[in-house]
Order: sequence, then C-alpha cells, then structure tokens
Amino acid sequence: MTEAVKHLGLCYMPDPSSQAISTIGGNVAENSGGVHCLKYGVTSNHVVGLEAVLPSGDVVHLGGDFVGGADREFDLTGAVIGSEGLLAIITEITVRLVPQPLTARILSLGFRSVEDASKCVGAIIGRGIVPAGLEFIDRKVIDAVSSMLGEVHSREVEAILLRELDGSKTEVDTLVAEVEAIAKANGLAETRISKTEEERAQIWQGRKLAFGAMGKIARDIYVTKRSIGGPVLADAAMDMSGLAGIDFYEPEELVIKVRAGTPVATVRDVLAEKKQHLAFEPPAYAAFFGNASANDTMGGIVACNLAGPRRILAGAPRDAVLGVEGVNGRGESFKGGGRTVKNVTGYDMPKLMTGSFGILAALTSVTLKVQPAPPREITLLVAGLGDAKAIALLADLLNVPAAPPRTLAGLMCRRRRCGWKASRSR
Ligand SMILES: Cc1cc2nc3c(=O)[nH]c(=O)nc-3n(C[C@H](O)[C@H](O)[C@H](O)COP(=O)(O)OP(=O)(O)OC[C@H]3O[C@@H](n4cnc5c(N)ncnc54)[C@H](O)[C@@H]3O)c2cc1C
Repeated sequence: MTEAVKHLGLCYMPDPSSQAISTIGGNVAENSGGVHCLKYGVTSNHVVGLEAVLPSGDVVHLGGDFVGGADREFDLTGAVIGSEGLLAIITEITVRLVPQPLTARILSLGFRSVEDASKCVGAIIGRGIVPAGLEFIDRKVIDAVSSMLGEVHSREVEAILLRELDGSKTEVDTLVAEVEAIAKANGLAETRISKTEEERAQIWQGRKLAFGAMGKIARDIYVTKRSIGGPVLADAAMDMSGLAGIDFYEPEELVIKVRAGTPVATVRDVLAEKKQHLAFEPPAYAAFFGNASANDTMGGIVACNLAGPRRILAGAPRDAVLGVEGVNGRGESFKGGGRTVKNVTGYDMPKLMTGSFGILAALTSVTLKVQPAPPREITLLVAGLGDAKAIALLADLLNVPAAPPRTLAGLMCRRRRCGWKASRSR
C-alpha cells in the first residue's frame, strides 16, 4: 500500500518494523505502531473505516469514508482495531493518507549510560521538539542487532537514541543542530547523522531488525489481554462535578491525567504555562449554545469526542486519549489503556469509551496525550470564493507537505441558513 501511493506524493504513516512482511489486515488486527507513532500515532489513528465479517456471518461497515465521518457514533472501528480477529474478520480497510514529508533525517545518538539517554529524551521534548521517529535501544539489543549488522557504534556506547526529524529542509537542518546540541549537553558520546535516504534507511534497519533479533536473547515475549466491562444503559443523570482536579501532568512525557469533572479551561491554562496544548482543541460549546457560565469539562469532551476545526489534521479526543478510568452500569470500576502512546495491546477500551456519550460507562478520569503548542499562529480568512472554489482551496491546502495548516474550516452554508450560528459564535 505504501508503495502504491508513493507516486502521488502521499504515504500511509504507521510503519511497524514488520512492515515489509505484514499485511494491513494484520496491522489493524494488532493495532500496530511503528517508529513514527509518537508524532503521527498508531494504526488506529489512521484507519477511517472497516468492512468486517462478524461471527454470525453478517457483513458490517464500521466507521466512515473520511476522517471524522463517524464521529457521532460509537467508535466500533476503534474497538475492532487491535482485537486480533476475536471480534470480527476484517475484509476491507479505508485509511487516511498524508503528504510525504519533504525531508527526513535521522540522528543515531550514542550514550555511555541509559540514564544519560533517558535524560536526553526529556530534554528534547521539553524544548518543544516532537521527533517524527523516536526509539531507544539498550546494550543487550545493540549486541543482538550487531550480531546481524556488525557494530553500529563503539563498545563504550550503552544506549542509542534514534531520532528522526522531518519537515522542510531548512526546518530539519535547524532541528538536527538543535537536537545534537541538547544531546551534547546530556552526555552524548558519539553521533551518526544521515545525509542521504540510503543512510537513513540503513540506520533505521538497526532498529527494524531489533524485534527479530530478540530471538537471540529471549525465547518468549508475552502480551496481555484486557477484559471488556459490561455496557449498561442507565436512566439517571449523574453529577460528576465533584470529580475535579489534575492527577498528574508530566510536560516532558507529554501526558496529563485529569478527573472527569475538571473544567477544560483549567487544563488549558495549566498546559499553556508549559507552552503545551491539546491539539484537538476542545470546543467551548457551552458559550456557543448561549450558556457561557456553564463549565465544559474534560469528561464531557471525551465522552462526546468533541474536537475543534483542527479535527482533520490534529485528530479528535479519540486520538489523544491514552487511558480511561470509569464506572460501568453495574457499579464496577475499571480502567483501560495506560499513559504511553504505544500502548497497543488488548482491546482498545479508551477508543470505545470515547464518544460513547456516557452510555457505556461514567468516565471518572482520562489520561491524554498533549502536544507542544505552536510558537506562532496565523489565521487566514479567504472570503467570497463560493462553495466549489472554497472546497477546492481546502483540498489544495491539505496537500501542503512542509507545513500543512493546523486548522481547516469552511463555512459552507449560505449566510441566510447559518446566520444565527454565526452571530452567536462571534
Ligand atoms: C520482525 C517483527 C517486527 C515487528 N515490529 C513491530 C513494530 O514495530 N510495531 C508493532 O506494533 N508490531 C510489530 N510487530 C508485530 C506486528 O504488529 C505484527 O507482526 C503485524 O502487524 C501483524 O501483521 P500480519 O499480517 O503479520 O498478521 P498475522 O501475524 O498474520 O496476524 C496477527 C493477528 O491478527 C489476526 N488477523 C490477521 N489478519 C486479520 C484480519 N484481516 N481480520 C481479523 N484478524 C486478522 C490474526 O488472526 C492474528 O491473531 C513485529 C513483528 C515482527 C515479526
């Protein structure tokens, strides 16, 4: 699939190391994530819709034909992704493609200790740089890989950080210099930096072979399964406002855990202090519907999977929720997911809960991935184009590879039809 769309300047972002041998069906069944998952997400962030056969033999169509097309439904696509064929056999998959990055370079940073390498991860992310690819390899794995590829770094290196940076050439060159400087300040012992595509592929090869090479040092690798809570429809409304507060916020790990009743504004302010934000821009609908004093809460935003106009590029709460805790209709408390981006084992409970409108469970807390906020934003308003030209412009803007706009919104109805909405939103 990756090869088939290359000539269009597009790519399918998830790239598990098994990419050359695995199928897209297997990737969906395992919710595979690759080296680019920190910046671009795992398989479930790129699958838009599925055709699947249920154990009953029924053929079902889940999700939609375009990004966000099924946002108002239970996220059954998200639940089936990662279910390893236990819920359904997937027969057709609609994925989202993105423009290929203009330039990508990789740094292989060698450190004398795991501690130095770990500190460097926090320091780079703390500076607001989210690498396109980010991997860590310790001495045991270096030995396993070296037995297949030959030594890639000297013996004094105990840990390697692989960092890929992508974007325009100027942007990448600047970031490479910046990342190398941060690494030097954190005990860097030696560096390899790719100058060509071949060198880049060669450096990644060391990581991509790692899983296969594990056979040299471990006989078994186990994964766990989580059980599903029982969905129950409830009659009564529950006041969640008492469950407010931030359980933890770790800016360098790009993660925050908040209780469901925490106002969105509180979270926004806390993140802004560290120059971070929720990329999906929780919309403030309370004000839009004329109840400005009401508090939009994080639990409500996740339960309704509400995203702002960045939806098509920055994703929705479903793409940012890493873990949930909740209480089901039987009064049983449960948790699903975790606090890391590449947490792809087991049924994806957080996806199923996100957008379930409180019908499956009352969420008590949510753990979310946060992002560095852009240092500068400019809003471009193009007026008077008419529907056809406006749609063509939106489509063109989506294909700007170096810096695609973070927000794309069109007011495609005529003024007399949406007049009241416009006046209220002002
Ligand atoms: C060398 C190596 C490197 C790897 N690196 C990574 C990595 O970097 N990141 C990562 O996340 N994973 C990695 N993996 C694991 C990876 O997720 C899987 O290997 C891959 O996604 C599975 O695809 P497959 O086509 O090989 O599926 P298979 O192994 O054939 O199947 C995997 C499971 O999915 C089910 N399944 C397959 N197709 C369907 C379908 N159409 N409908 C329903 N169920 C289906 C199967 O029944 C089985 O339970 C790696 C594996 C290997 C061997």
